[in-house]
Amino acid sequence: MKRIDFIKLNALAGIGFSVMPFEYLQDNPSKALLTGKHNPYLNTSGVIHKAVYQPFVKMREAALKAGLDIQIVSGFRSFDRQLKIWNSKYKQYQKQGLSDKDIIKKIITYSTIPGTSRHHWGTDIDIIDANVEKPNSDLLLEQNYHGNGVYCKLQEWMQTHAHEFGFYLVYTNNYHRSGFKYEPWHYSYKPLSKPYLKSYLKLNHNDLFNNENVLGKNYLDQNCLMSYFQSHLRGINPKLLP
Ligand SMILES: [Zn+2]
Repeated sequence: MKRIDFIKLNALAGIGFSVMPFEYLQDNPSKALLTGKHNPYLNTSGVIHKAVYQPFVKMREAALKAGLDIQIVSGFRSFDRQLKIWNSKYKQYQKQGLSDKDIIKKIITYSTIPGTSRHHWGTDIDIIDANVEKPNSDLLLEQNYHGNGVYCKLQEWMQTHAHEFGFYLVYTNNYHRSGFKYEPWHYSYKPLSKPYLKSYLKLNHNDLFNNENVLGKNYLDQNCLMSYFQSHLRGINPKLLP
């Protein structure tokens, strides 16, 4: 849960963008882009994909009218950033004496294996409402988005309206869904992320960790990755599945 890269939305303001997402859908996204190693399409603040920017601004404007100030706390994340998150969690659990297999199982409850995050694409965002006082706890906790949680109103508004702008909750609270736990803060821009996932699932992942210092990579063999892709990458809101 330490992925709070605070990004003031003000930093996004004033960045003109007029190209429709269509342009990007024509491209066969490169392997480097899909695995977080290179993304030439980020907006100038490096937070989201250029094609996601306008739809996001429109959604934000509509939410403002309802008294909500949508703020992105995590958008694009590079392979290297995900690697740091992964390795630091790995070391933490190693110190607790967990076996490598148990460490991996534990980390992938919430965090992705480097090179496999939807945040690599610039299509996915973790959001809060900047109009309310931040809770003392971590921000991205389920309790903050439900019941008396400060982001409850945001959650309700997003559930009703986000799809009008192309955004969908990825890790829903559907009991039958496999993979990552429920994340009421994580939304994805479907017109782009759906084709990206389709391309991603077709990649050859044999060399994903070549020359990369990914702790536990010996345990992340092809069999392990294939079952993780099935449970975690496909274990999402069915509306986002290719
Ligand atoms: Zn997220």
